[in-house]
Amino acid sequence: MKSSTVETNKHKEVLLEVNDLKVYFDINRKKVAKAVDGVDFSIHKGETVALVGESGSGKSVTSLSVMRLIQMPPGKIVSGSIKLDDKELLSLPEKSMRRVRGNEIGMIFQEPMTSLDPVFTIGNQIIESLVYHQGLSKKSARKQAIELLNIVGIANSEKVIDGYPHQLSGGMRQRVMIAIALSNNPKLLIADEPTTALDVTVQSQILKLMLKMKDTFNSSILLITHDMGVVAETADRVLVMYGGQIVEEAEVKELFLNPNHPYTMALLKTMPNLDQHVRRLPSIKGNVPPAHMFPEGCRFADRCEFAMERCRLVAPELENISDGHKVRCHLPFMKGGEALGQ
Ligand code: SF4
Repeated sequence: MKSSTVETNKHKEVLLEVNDLKVYFDINRKKVAKAVDGVDFSIHKGETVALVGESGSGKSVTSLSVMRLIQMPPGKIVSGSIKLDDKELLSLPEKSMRRVRGNEIGMIFQEPMTSLDPVFTIGNQIIESLVYHQGLSKKSARKQAIELLNIVGIANSEKVIDGYPHQLSGGMRQRVMIAIALSNNPKLLIADEPTTALDVTVQSQILKLMLKMKDTFNSSILLITHDMGVVAETADRVLVMYGGQIVEEAEVKELFLNPNHPYTMALLKTMPNLDQHVRRLPSIKGNVPPAHMFPEGCRFADRCEFAMERCRLVAPELENISDGHKVRCHLPFMKGGEALGQ
């Protein structure tokens, strides 16, 4: 596991602060899907924060909201605040926000083919970003683009720059995306499932590259993933999302050694264990409830093996159980977590 408490405590200065974010979607004008429902978190300078959860948990909507890329309508940011270096992003005019995207926030998505334009060369796409955001001449931008491709480990970058995305492998395309995302030295890199489409060896190389780049460019990372193995390899701190809310938050080591929310425990059980020869990894039974049908009480109750009557009646709040460790569950507050055998 990558991090330690001491290491994480180095990250003191807040870069991104999200408060009480609520993002709702109208469904057929009759129902409201509460995709993100009162989310608070912060990311410190130089820190890598993982936002984890199954699909439908609200993690991608959270990251799209930070970039102000929610389609409105049907989406709507109902309330909240998103501050990057004390600048309120939610009230910025779209023109200024376009400069923030790419300049201050870099983005890497799961499938680079959907973000790279197939009809333009790799070079065109990096150069365009450098010319738009940094005002470089085309000649200087091309030189810098070749340097960036070298930095992200693309051999023959002087040739590759004139090639097209389809001529590269998945791993190479993801390296190009990283080069584009970092081309303007962003303060924050948002990576949404950046390695899901890649095989395991390439996955590990790309994660290592992202961390190296983060250090080189002194950026912070918000990493969206459903994979606890990826979290263990990369994160300093972890936010676990379920049903549009954060259900557990802790430093990575604390979360893996002392998970307190039954959902986090279930996610951890889905990780492959090198000591065990299992034919099939366990999956969490049931599904995340649709965002327009959340129950009154705990949103995880239907899937939770520890659910009690109180859980179905009273929605738990996100509360501190120790320094930097927060949990949204009634159990840790009953007999010090005895019910979980801790
Ligand atoms: Fe399970 Fe109850 Fe905790 Fe919800 S509040 S996770 S149902 S124990």
